[in-house]
Formats: sequence, structure tokens, C-alpha cells
Amino acid sequence: MYSKSSVLIPVLVILLLAPFAVPPSLAALPDENPFFAPYGTPFETPAFQRMLPAHFLPALEKGIGEHKREVRAITVVRSVPTFENTIVAFDRSGALLDRVSGVFGALRGAITNDQLDSIATISTPLLTSHRNDIALDEQLFLRIKAVYDMRGTLLLTPEQSMLLDNTYKDFVRGGANLSAPDKQRLRVMNDELSMLSLKFNQNLLKETNTYRMVVEKKEDLDGLPPAVVDAAAAAARKASLEGKWVFTLQKPSWIPFMQYATNRALREKLYRAYCNRGDNNNTFDNKQIIARIAVLRVARAQLLGYRTHAEYVLEENMAKNPKTVYDFLYKLWEPARASAQKERDAMQAMIRKEANAFALASWDWWYYAEKIKKAEYDLDEETLRPYFKMENVRQGAFDVASRLYGLQFVERKDIPRYADDVQVFEVKERDGSHLGVLYTDYFLRGGKRPGAWMGSFRSYGRIGDSVVTPVVYNVGNFSGPTTGKPALLSLDEVETLFHEFGHALSGLLSRRSYDNIGLPRDGIELPSQIMENWARHPDVLRSYARHYETNAPIPETLIQKIAKSETFNQGFMSVEYLAASLLDLDWHTLTDTSLVDATAFETASFSRIRLMPEIVARYRSPYFAHIFAGGYSAGYYSYIWAEVLDADAFEAFKEKGLFDRPTADAFRRNILERGGTEDPMVLYERFRGKKPTIEPLLKRRGFL
Ligand SMILES: [Zn+2]
Repeated sequence: MYSKSSVLIPVLVILLLAPFAVPPSLAALPDENPFFAPYGTPFETPAFQRMLPAHFLPALEKGIGEHKREVRAITVVRSVPTFENTIVAFDRSGALLDRVSGVFGALRGAITNDQLDSIATISTPLLTSHRNDIALDEQLFLRIKAVYDMRGTLLLTPEQSMLLDNTYKDFVRGGANLSAPDKQRLRVMNDELSMLSLKFNQNLLKETNTYRMVVEKKEDLDGLPPAVVDAAAAAARKASLEGKWVFTLQKPSWIPFMQYATNRALREKLYRAYCNRGDNNNTFDNKQIIARIAVLRVARAQLLGYRTHAEYVLEENMAKNPKTVYDFLYKLWEPARASAQKERDAMQAMIRKEANAFALASWDWWYYAEKIKKAEYDLDEETLRPYFKMENVRQGAFDVASRLYGLQFVERKDIPRYADDVQVFEVKERDGSHLGVLYTDYFLRGGKRPGAWMGSFRSYGRIGDSVVTPVVYNVGNFSGPTTGKPALLSLDEVETLFHEFGHALSGLLSRRSYDNIGLPRDGIELPSQIMENWARHPDVLRSYARHYETNAPIPETLIQKIAKSETFNQGFMSVEYLAASLLDLDWHTLTDTSLVDATAFETASFSRIRLMPEIVARYRSPYFAHIFAGGYSAGYYSYIWAEVLDADAFEAFKEKGLFDRPTADAFRRNILERGGTEDPMVLYERFRGKKPTIEPLLKRRGFL
């Protein structure tokens, strides 16, 4: 299935001699590799203006080589293993590799192309093999184990204990205790798994980006807002289909079509195209890949002494085991389903009122939900957009961080960017001292993977007395500015912007001294999701939601409508999300290593929970990248787990005041700065003064 690298390399050499096609700002001298010396830029931010695709592979290879040498330096020492000479030294190793892969990963996400894809095809197995070399390095493990075995006698801080635990457990979980032949089996499995995930993602990207629905007749655009029609016409022009309209599976094109197009047959067509990605029985089909990933994960878990992949994963999370997660999800499932059924009945009644005879189908849900919203809440998404100019929304998020934590954001035009529409901000503390750097890259672009995310070029660190400041980025796929109009976001995009900004704050404010101190998967979303509460709070909306032409604040009537509509469609949202979370858990509680039929497996999963036919899970298996290509396997439940925490945590601000300084300080000190340095539940209770409860979430979703 995969081309050998020896076949690919000659092709690459030719490709790499051509300058980086996108963007032109990256053109530079090819003979000096910017990764091999300090960047010499403000705050040592990546020197994008000097980077070429041809730099990555040599830099990654050198990074791997240096990392190997650094690890060897730890193991050849004759002295007794200590926390400093082993655990800390290992944590500090691999700096060049981190630096290169940080940039490469970011560009692959935000602005990939065939050249970078080809490099990834070569570098992925190199990196996997390198990670395996380290994970299975016996000398290194012996030293780590020696330190771990004397942990009772070491005087370590809680964070240092955490680092020691994490390091030791990583090795055990990575197979360090296995026999030599089993280590070899594990290595083969890991190699295959990483290539399968890569292939899964490439297929999904192709399936998402190559599909287009061309509309030729104007009447087929009936119901669509003018801005959506304009964007579709622009997309058609770009595809040399002047005079026609092109709709795609990208959210800014797909969602409004589902919400507003009166042509039911076209809605069905576009809806099915979305839901069948990776499931078209063509070269980009993901079903076989999924089935293979699932059994490989079972086999790997069992080799490591677990019954299922979920048990292996969840041991590291706040939830600890699959039973806790199933119980938790089921507690939400029935109220969510009951609520969604009520929503369905209301829509079916509306269909009858329109003198239509058809039964509501999944491709009708968005359309009728939008109508209900208009009828019951009189809220039209499009009337909100003018108040959500991207720059205003981003400033709104910055202001929230200023009022909570005293942060200041200053745009820096002198910091290199990887694309022209990226903006860079220096982040400062209340007293003006430098805290870090934030890039924002919000708009749709060819070569950007779907979704929104946060990442780091560099994480906070401490080496002796010197501090390494964080450099983080936020990426989105919002519709950008059009001729004569700035980028106007939907309410959903506004919340996404605040969400990713919350992740950015957690990166910027982290005071973790070591690399291998991370948040558990189900703890990561608390800092991001809590920010969404401020995004839609009336007091905050009043400050940032201003009309892009008149600068008039958003009318009170609209604010009230937003508040009133908060529980709107929550049954649907919860059901499609919970169905995907349960599907994820089902895939990863398999105990058998015989191949399953992906379609049959999925159908069984949905019928077991009695998923209503009018709702398709938020992700069907063939495009469930979170769990088959991202880091969320057996962890998709994390978002709603974190929502219990964020709803409960925001209660503290509701009780004490939206910008109450002591509450904000406590959140910063215990959650944002210290996340991962101690048991997350202990840290949470230290912030909140008590355990979290599920009620604030049920209330927020209108289930109570
Ligand atoms: Zn998130």
C-alpha cells in the first residue's frame, strides 16, 4: 500500500529544488539551514522567511542524530543514576528535534502542499523508528528505573515526583519491560499504526477537499444568505466555473447550505457527501484502515498487559477506566436523547404545518432547527455576523485575558510569519514584562486541515535561572474577508475563537518547569472551554460585539436572544456528540484481535444506544480523525468531561463576579500555571474549594 522511500526520494529531490511555492514570502537562500543556528528573530521566533521545504528533512535527521547522542551521553555515564543526571537530562534532550518538528507540524497543519506531504511520508517512519529506539533503549530504562526505585528516599517537589512518575510510566507503557522478541513485535505494530494514521488523514483530506457540488441554476440557491452565495460564486470563479456556484464540505460552505437552502434534494446530496467521506469504496476509503487500526491497538494493549486499548489509554486520564467513562456518558445519554426527541417533534410539527408530508431526515435537521430558532427565538445567525468582525472578537478575547490576568497583547509586524494573513502578538504581563508570543491564523486556506486548534513552536521552560518563554499559535477555518467586507464570524466561530484562545492562555501561562509534565487528555479542555462562557456573556458581548460599519454595540434585544437561545438544539448537539463518544469507546473496548467489518460495527454501536435515525453521530468512523489519526482514541468523551468542570468552574465566577481578581488568580495559579504538575482533581479542588458536580452542565444544556 505504501511507496518505499527509495522510490520517493528521486522525485523529492526534483521537487525540493523548486522554491517553496506557497507562500512566496518563504523564498530564501537554500544553502543555509535556518534550524542549525539561532533564528536571530525577535524572541527567537521561527525564521519562516528563511525556511524552505528542502530544509526540513536534513534538519529532522540532524535532530534525530543529536537526540540519540544526548541520550547516549546519559547512558554512558558511570556514576550512579540520579534525578538530575538521568530524569532531568532526558527531559532536556531532543531540543533540536522538538524545534524542527514543532515548525514542521505547524506548517503541515496550516499550509501543507504536495512537497510537505512527501516529506512527511519519508519523515514519519524515521520519527516513529527513532521514538521506538528510545522507548526500547534498555540502558536508558535501567537508569530511569534505578532512580524510580529509590524515589522514596529522594527529596523531590510534587512537580519533580510527577516528572519521575511520568518518565518511568512512559517507558513501561512503551514496552520497556517486554522481552526482546515482544519489543520487536511492539515496534512493528507502532510502525504500522503510525503509517495507517497518516494514510487515514491523507485520505480524509483528499475526500474533504476534492468534493464540490456545482450549482448551475439560480433558483437552487433559494434561501441562502447573500454572503454565502457570494462566497460560492467566488469559489466557482476560482475553479474556472464563472457564472456558477460551488459548495464544498468545508464548514463555512457546508453549514449555511444545511441551514438555509430550501432545495431539499441538494441538501441531501451535500449532506450525504459529508457523511460518506472515507466511505466511498474508492482509493481514499478508510474502512479497512480503521478495522486494522482497531485490532492493532487491541494487540498492542494486550502485549503491554491490558485487556483493551481503552484501559491502556484511560489509566493516564482523570477518568482512570472505561467503566467510569461509560457510566458518565450514560448519565447524560438518556436526558440528551429525550431532549432531542422533543426537538424532533417540534420540527416535524413545523413540517406538517407547512403542508409537507415527509418525515424529518438528518439533512433536514439543520434547516428546520434554523427555522425553529427564528420562530421561537427570533434569532437569525446572519443578523449577528455584522457584530462579530474577527478583529473585534479577538480584541474581546484579549480584553477578557486582560481583565482576568492583567495580560496585554501588542501586535508585532517585525516577527516573521508563514502566510500573509497570519498576525503575531507579543504577550506581556500586567507590569509590561515579556510573557510570550501568540500567532493567530484564522482563515480558510487551501492546504489547511479542517477544524481549529492551538499548538506551540516552543513551550515554557526553565533551565537553571534562565526562562524559556512560550511561543504559541491559534489556527481556525473561519470565512475570511471578502471584497469590501471584513471577516464577519458566526456565533459558533466566535466561541471557537475564544476556545482556542483558552488553549493559548494555558500554553502562555504555564509555569511547568519540565517538558514531560502534561495535562491528561480529559483535563486539557477545561482552560479552553471555560473561555466560551465569557464569549457569550452579556457583559462581555456589550464590550466587543460592535457593528463593523457603525461601531454601535450589539443591541440588547440580540443579547437577550443569544442568552435565550443557549439551550436551543442542545438535545441534538448532545446526542450527536455522545453517540460519537460512545462509538469511540466501543471501538477501543474491543478485546478480540480478529478483524471486524467497520460498517457493521458502527451500525451495531448506534443501535445499541438506540440512536434516533434523524441524527448522524458527529463523526462517523471513516472520518473520525480525532480517534484514528489524532490523540483522542478512547478520549473523545474528554470534551464533555471537561464541560462538567468548566460549567462548575464558571459557577465560581458567577458567584464571585465575572472578573473577580481572587477567583481569577486562583484559576491561574492552580489550573493554568500548574496543570499537570499534580493530580488534576487535587488541583481543581484547590481552585474551587470542593469537588465538581454535574448539575451546572445539565442546567446549562436545559436538561434540568
Ligand atoms: Zn479544545
